[in-house]
Amino acid sequence: MSESLATVSYIGATILFILSLGGLSHPETSRRGNLYGMIGMTLAVLATIFGPRVTMAGIPWIVGAMVVGGSVGIYAARKVKMTEMPELVALMHSLVGLAAALVGFANYIDPVAAANLTSAEKAIHEMEIYIGILIGAVTFSGSIIAFGKLSGKIGGKPLLLPARHWMNLLGLLVVIFFGYKFLNAHSVADGMIPLIVMTVIALLFGIHMVMAIGGADMPVVVSMLNSYSGWAAAATGFMLNNDLLIVTGALVGSSGAILSYIMCRAMNRNFISVIAGGFGTGGGTPAAAPGGDAQPAGEVVAVSAVETAELLREAKNVIIVPGYGMAVAQAQHIVYEITQYLREQGVNVRFGIHPVAGRMPGHMNVLLAEARVPYDIVMEMDELNEDFPDTDVAMVIGANDIVNPAAQDDPNSPIAGMPVLEVWKAKTSIVMKRSMASGYAGVDNPLFYKENNRMLFGDAKKMLDEVFVALKS
Ligand code: NDP
Repeated sequence: MSESLATVSYIGATILFILSLGGLSHPETSRRGNLYGMIGMTLAVLATIFGPRVTMAGIPWIVGAMVVGGSVGIYAARKVKMTEMPELVALMHSLVGLAAALVGFANYIDPVAAANLTSAEKAIHEMEIYIGILIGAVTFSGSIIAFGKLSGKIGGKPLLLPARHWMNLLGLLVVIFFGYKFLNAHSVADGMIPLIVMTVIALLFGIHMVMAIGGADMPVVVSMLNSYSGWAAAATGFMLNNDLLIVTGALVGSSGAILSYIMCRAMNRNFISVIAGGFGTGGGTPAAAPGGDAQPAGEVVAVSAVETAELLREAKNVIIVPGYGMAVAQAQHIVYEITQYLREQGVNVRFGIHPVAGRMPGHMNVLLAEARVPYDIVMEMDELNEDFPDTDVAMVIGANDIVNPAAQDDPNSPIAGMPVLEVWKAKTSIVMKRSMASGYAGVDNPLFYKENNRMLFGDAKKMLDEVFVALKS
């Protein structure tokens, strides 16, 4: 493939990636967005393999790597449960970071990469390597810790080391100092020590940064690591002189950054405070581990599936608030059947979606779209929060933190200030969950003890199956 054909293919792939991002911005167009992305990536890979920079001798290596990587990817994608997707995504971000760091080291050692460069070009090339490895290493270790936290292998409680901000600042100064040493090194062997020291500091910083994040702030970190993985890919593009990788990385990096900003706004958090870790938790009660052993703080009123069906039958306005538990129970299909039935009976049913419901951005929208719930009854939190006082039944399905009134009432709560769906303002709220356990943020939920709240204990799918039978009988 000639240089110009490869360039045209790269431009085509770039346009497809931009269209893909545009498509992913709305549930209705997201399938098309995915398709554009897949075609763009196929084009990019083919143009790279058959482009002028890959020799015939290199093809078997690339094919071998693709077979191994592709097999692992197919196995992981087939095996992973929908609820494990966030962990898988975090693991994939870590691989992008690792790749950037390894490419950086390989590029530095490779005598061909720096051959024929003027001293100014060499300095720029080495700066790209230094920054590329720095971003890659932070992304790698941070994403591994995020994987641990999302999968519950590491507790949700933030690790707040004494003088942690000073430690971060010291780390930054050491990285700058060794960057200076690296750029002034006289040989590859000479430059290797500052490079390795910086890599170790970057790895430790990544671990520290994510360990210091409290459970409820994790969504911001997930989207931030997504952004970092984009910048790591862009840095790899600079090191390898690959324009498409630079553009693609920048697209992922900037869209991830915008998502982090949206998440911060949605949760009423300051971005810098979140990534500096634990700024907002001063004086607050640290979160317990997810599903922790929160002590009951009052009496709760339990109801049966039959009683729930009765409340629904008498209602005119119903708002359903799905959360992580709906994903665990895979209850979205029965939720849709109940919705359809109630709508046929003239009940106004709508869904209230919190921006951080579930365990990844857009988690609930994906599940509801999969169950074919019409988009026009799926509303954002801001669109329907003020409608709760006119709602007969607010049905909370496996959600907890996103409907916790402590976020508004208790300034010492770890989730204080986070906007929540005000389900307690409905005439009756019904919370469907298996026990009194807390949600991801590990805080007790005063909603359960409110006078107008009812608890329907059990697996969401099983209980909703029973509610549906009772509704129809
Ligand atoms: P929560 O984690 O607060 O609560 C989910 C509830 O679902 C639990 O209390 C659990 O209670 C219940 N549950 C679990 N399995 C079932 C089941 N089979 N049937 C019925 N109920 C079940 O989830 P929310 O969606 O309310 O809030 C999301 C939380 O996750 C927030 O704290 C958010 O910050 C965090 N987060 C969000 C991310 C995102 O990008 N969206 C990423 C990372 C974290 P029980 O065990 O008693 O059944």
